[in-house]
Amino acid sequence: MPIILKSAAEIAAMREAGRINALALEEVCAAVRPGVRTRELDRIAERVIRAHGAEPAFLYYPNATFPEYPYPATINVSINDELVHGIPGNRRLREGDIVSLDCGTLWQGVIGDSAVTVPVGKVSPEAQRLIEVTREALRLAIEACRPGRRLGDVSATIQEWVEGQGYHVVREYTGHGVGYEMHEEPQIPNWGTRGRGILLRPGMTFALEPMVTLGPPELYVKDDHWTVATKDGSLCAHFEHTVAVTAGEPEILTLP
Ligand code: MG
Ligand code: MG
Repeated sequence: MPIILKSAAEIAAMREAGRINALALEEVCAAVRPGVRTRELDRIAERVIRAHGAEPAFLYYPNATFPEYPYPATINVSINDELVHGIPGNRRLREGDIVSLDCGTLWQGVIGDSAVTVPVGKVSPEAQRLIEVTREALRLAIEACRPGRRLGDVSATIQEWVEGQGYHVVREYTGHGVGYEMHEEPQIPNWGTRGRGILLRPGMTFALEPMVTLGPPELYVKDDHWTVATKDGSLCAHFEHTVAVTAGEPEILTLP
């Protein structure tokens, strides 16, 4: 599959999809507090997305490994040792948790995809630092998305920063091209080699998503067929933006 370059008009549509997605995540984050059920967060996201005439892009997303279990919700709510794809339900957030919230919005045929990890109440300094290092990994990766540079530069930027801080990048999941589909070419690993990979060109649209673990980056999928967590139970964090490569500065498309 080739990489689909987007026109200015297509990027404008993705900017609106991304804006709606960011508004949904913003409202969800405002509702994060000890005692809230993860299903309540999901309802907030779905309400905001539909109020803007858009649709949840994760809802009924096919499960590659278990085709009989399409994704049942609007957002992923992944708590502490859970990295991605946590299914919202009756579970309540607790003081000291960190929670990763990932949301996708489909608007007029295009997708916005972004994620944040936030503290629930007061968290340990260790958890706070993990969040900050992962957020910074995303910022640095976005900065690297410039024409003439290579995809390996983006990947290596994330890996070098994260490992330099004493943490680990996940190998089993990656960032990705995004636009008409949730997952388009290319895959964007959070590890790599500078100077390698495709040349970045204006019109490329990426979902960059550093996934960082405090302990060993080995993962497993829980019995719900979706939730991905660390094998050793240690904390992990995840940030994501949808970004367009332009002739100049990279543009974040998932801003409120
Ligand atoms: Mg996402
Ligand atoms: Mg993504």
